[in-house]
Amino acid sequence: MAGLASGRYAGESPADFDAGHYNLKLQVRNTVKKWVYFFGAGKAEGDGEWRDLLGGKGAGLAEMTKIGLPVPGGFTISTEACDYYYKNGKKYPAELAKQVKDNVAKLEKAAKKKLGDPKNPLLVSVRSGSARSMPGMMETILNLGLNEKSVQGLAAVTGNERFAYDAYRRFVQMYSTVVMGLSKEDLEHRLRAMRDRRGVKGDTDVPAEGWKELVAEYKAYFKEKSGNAFPEDPMEQLWGAIGAVFGSWMAEKAVTYRRVEKITGLLGTAVNVVQMVFGNTGDNSGTGVCFTRDPSTGDKIFYGDYLTNAQGEDVVAGIRTPVHLTELKKMMPKVYDQLEKVRVKLENHYKDMQDMEFTVEEGTLYMLQTRTGKRTPAAAFKMAMDMTNEKLITKEDAVLRIKPEDIERLFYPVIDSKFDKKTLQAKILTHGIDAVPGAAVGKVVFNAADAEEWAQRGEKVILVRRETSPEDVGGMAVAQGILTATGGKTSHAAVVARGWGKCCIVGAETLNIDYGTKSMTDGKSGKTIKEGEWLTLDGGEGTVYADRLALVTPEMPKAYQTVMKWADEIRRLKVRTNADTPQDARKAIEFGAEGIGLTRTEHMFFTDFEFPEKSHERQRAIQEMILAETKEARVKALDKLLPFQRRDFVGIFNAMNGFPVTIRLIDPPLHEFVPHDRAKQSELAKELGISVETVARRVEQLHEANPMLGHRGCRLSITYPEILEMQVRAIIEAAIECTKNKVKVLPEIMIPLTLDKKELGILDQSTRRVADDLIKKSGIKLPYMVGTMIELPRAALLANEIAEVAEFFSFGTNDLTQTTMGLSRDDAGRFLPDYVDEKKAAVFHGDPFQTLDTKGVGMLMKWGIEKGRETRPKLKVGICGEHGGDADSVKFCHSVGMDYVSASPFRVPISRLAAAQAVVEEKKAAIKKGKRK
Ligand code: PEP
Ligand code: MG
Repeated sequence: MAGLASGRYAGESPADFDAGHYNLKLQVRNTVKKWVYFFGAGKAEGDGEWRDLLGGKGAGLAEMTKIGLPVPGGFTISTEACDYYYKNGKKYPAELAKQVKDNVAKLEKAAKKKLGDPKNPLLVSVRSGSARSMPGMMETILNLGLNEKSVQGLAAVTGNERFAYDAYRRFVQMYSTVVMGLSKEDLEHRLRAMRDRRGVKGDTDVPAEGWKELVAEYKAYFKEKSGNAFPEDPMEQLWGAIGAVFGSWMAEKAVTYRRVEKITGLLGTAVNVVQMVFGNTGDNSGTGVCFTRDPSTGDKIFYGDYLTNAQGEDVVAGIRTPVHLTELKKMMPKVYDQLEKVRVKLENHYKDMQDMEFTVEEGTLYMLQTRTGKRTPAAAFKMAMDMTNEKLITKEDAVLRIKPEDIERLFYPVIDSKFDKKTLQAKILTHGIDAVPGAAVGKVVFNAADAEEWAQRGEKVILVRRETSPEDVGGMAVAQGILTATGGKTSHAAVVARGWGKCCIVGAETLNIDYGTKSMTDGKSGKTIKEGEWLTLDGGEGTVYADRLALVTPEMPKAYQTVMKWADEIRRLKVRTNADTPQDARKAIEFGAEGIGLTRTEHMFFTDFEFPEKSHERQRAIQEMILAETKEARVKALDKLLPFQRRDFVGIFNAMNGFPVTIRLIDPPLHEFVPHDRAKQSELAKELGISVETVARRVEQLHEANPMLGHRGCRLSITYPEILEMQVRAIIEAAIECTKNKVKVLPEIMIPLTLDKKELGILDQSTRRVADDLIKKSGIKLPYMVGTMIELPRAALLANEIAEVAEFFSFGTNDLTQTTMGLSRDDAGRFLPDYVDEKKAAVFHGDPFQTLDTKGVGMLMKWGIEKGRETRPKLKVGICGEHGGDADSVKFCHSVGMDYVSASPFRVPISRLAAAQAVVEEKKAAIKKGKRK
């Protein structure tokens, strides 16, 4: 929705706005900007498409209202207002006050009740909701509008004084903590004390007098802490709540969640003010959360939790463990049937699995929210496949439904099947609800701060809590798995963990957790676990084992293969892999790679991947080459390396049978290959029969102040052409051998860190001289290519000249990012977090070494491709920096017309998916643009 921030006018839809952005008519319209959007009685000023403006919740409420579902009335203050608020020193737009007032009046008219009315009061909830769901991260206030007078009206209208004062104390409690930031614990303490005084156990047993007493205590506490009386005026309460919701957008937990989830580019949160309905008026009422399909498995079953006589957040907060929807069917068959119809209607309407909140008030159903439901990775694939087969969506839609993280998380482990049932049985600590599948092993910690601290020092941890709250999100993010004693599948812990594909078990009710002693005892098994002891969670079964069990990676589900096949049919970009060994190459082919985009030959100097115990031999050979004082000595050492390199290349060519293989010549500075400590230097000297001083002197000579910009890359081959000659010989001899053995080989020799046409020309000539000579002597035909990496800005700028020599370009975006931005790729990690932190500088949305800086580095790439192809129209272009495995970067590579991307083996499926998504998104954008014309 382009142009939102630049302003829209009352009565204008986003589509009108986009279409007419440059329309002159706009300039003469009245200029009262619209900040508030109403919905109620079957009509709404927005709809489900307006997520960016109304937030997910607001858009869902508007859409449900429009399609005739039972939704209480209300209005949404737009995300633009939040954006304005933060851009203008936390001030509201001038027109907002009037628009809120007008919409309150409209709501009062629709509800036939008035805010603060002492006889029949209107109560509202005030809820956050941004364009991307951030479960529980921002604030909500319920029952707003209650005061000393209106509470009596509520009691009179409902004939239920106990209920009215319960609602009142909840409001005062929420307002005090959320708006005024008072201590939750202090208020809870007063609640517990009141219950103890009265000798009652649960909240449902507290009589009206108890709640009255508590309200008075809360208010006194409020006054003592804030210096002001608790606000009686409902409009004052409303503005307090609006401010708190906007404020919660930048609360620590919300910022952390956005960072972990990589949510960027949003305007802020909307504020939804909605007429209250009550799930806590008695046993004929209740509240629930349900999903149109099972979010764990993807199965097409109606899935959900319900709590009788409960309000709003009780289910999500996981304070009481709810019952399954099948119980609701037994208790209220009519309501259940109605809900089932809503399920079908909403899923058909949105064409995706919905996560819905509902309330039953005295037997009447109200829908309070619908949003696209979070799901496990396996469920994401299953639903995408099933919905396509059901003709609800197309294959292209199915491909868009999968997130890159879903693929990564599919590889999550399960408990090794080598353990027999009896062995496992003996290790069981407890059982809970299987909220998110997969398995996790770690040491137990009992709070989020400890989880973060332990994880920082490299420990694997399981976070165990009675229940989690949004404050725990940092600890949850670093934990291997999460275990809670309370809550259902829709509790905060479950929802957040599911979004991350993180193993999670909730509602392990027999667990007795003692935060004081940092230990837990299970009431059933009798076992006790202390902080630091090992635990294994089986999230698929909901079983907790008091031991450290071995985990294995599971088989890929059928739906994965199906959807990925669709992705392959759609994408234009080829996907290759970065692999230095035949093993990696084979793994990458399993993951769908179509060639190698980068083999870093220097890795072969360190390790013999076939016979690791023999690695020493090749290490010594390269060191001897580096220490050699004459060309002859160098060539002698290189001759020792040749057979190793040749064998490695034969292995890789065989593994990639017929796919192209790009092999890069030596790249790192030579000092990386020699020892720097005295003991290792003298060991080396002894083996080579030279003095330790000679070794030390040569190492000293190799020292550079800034090696990343020093004697590395193709500069080494300019100084020592014999290195290049040996490597080219090894590549071509291996290729000849394979060809003779009927293995198809397509070698592409790649020269790194090129900065000039002449430089590349010299190396190209040497390469071709060696290669052509060998091929001629072999008597076979062997096509090969010589190309270069583009990883210096100068090379990108002069791409037209470089392409006179190079047959292909491969963008080395690790170095190109480093050299374009002037950010050391080895040191930037120390300060880059400040550049990304929303609360500090927020210069970048993310780490430019992970996700391409399309604006700056991308500009050079675009230029380089265009200029290169001006010289050589068929120039083959790819990328082999880490960005080749990052979904957003892959989409950029598609948009600038690359031929392929190359990623590490495990990221190959992500790149395949992203490449397909790029095609679909491009198509959709073109259709949208066409419609606008
Ligand atoms: C690059 O710079 O992007 C690249 C692939 O090379 P390396 O990471 O080996 O420097
Ligand atoms: Mg590089």
